[in-house]
Amino acid sequence: MSVLPIYLYGSEILRKKAKPVHELDNSVIKLIYGMAETMHKANGVGLAANQVGDLRRVIVVDVSAIEESQREESDGEPVERERGTKTLAIINPQLVEQSGSWVMEEGCLSIPDVRGDVTRSERISVRFRDVNFREVEMTFNGLLGRVVLHEMDHLDGVLFIDHIGTAKRALMRSELRKIKKGEVETSYPVMSAVEV
Ligand SMILES: [Zn+2]
Repeated sequence: MSVLPIYLYGSEILRKKAKPVHELDNSVIKLIYGMAETMHKANGVGLAANQVGDLRRVIVVDVSAIEESQREESDGEPVERERGTKTLAIINPQLVEQSGSWVMEEGCLSIPDVRGDVTRSERISVRFRDVNFREVEMTFNGLLGRVVLHEMDHLDGVLFIDHIGTAKRALMRSELRKIKKGEVETSYPVMSAVEV
């Protein structure tokens, strides 16, 4: 399986609504594995299909990395990270319930070096198809819930910067313009909005 290029801010596909997956064929499996490898390579904790140029409702989340970063926060001690040991594939996610609200700074592999505070629900229940295409419902809290919501947004063509107020977003304008023009350096392969 190979690492896929990540589409950068300004790419049309990031603004498109992805379509439901109707059956788990080989191409879906291949997409999931490719996305998982791409996410790990880019040191991301989540990735949506739009970001690798595919319009199917598939997201992957690195559960172990998120759990470890939460542990780090509570213990105050750095934990050696072993990534990719628990990657969750979420197909056709539907938000069933949500409650609470909290703010945290977010970033996005498609918008490198840009960060901003986003308010999201604290606790969510999501119904989806798992990697075996079984229908499951799971509850996600805190950071894990946040990542799932961020990735679900991608499937609807929504980016985290859309949740940021106009004043703060104006401060990001020059940074966003650079990314749009492909003037950004990343440690992972990318596809910029313009032909370079
Ligand atoms: Zn993102």
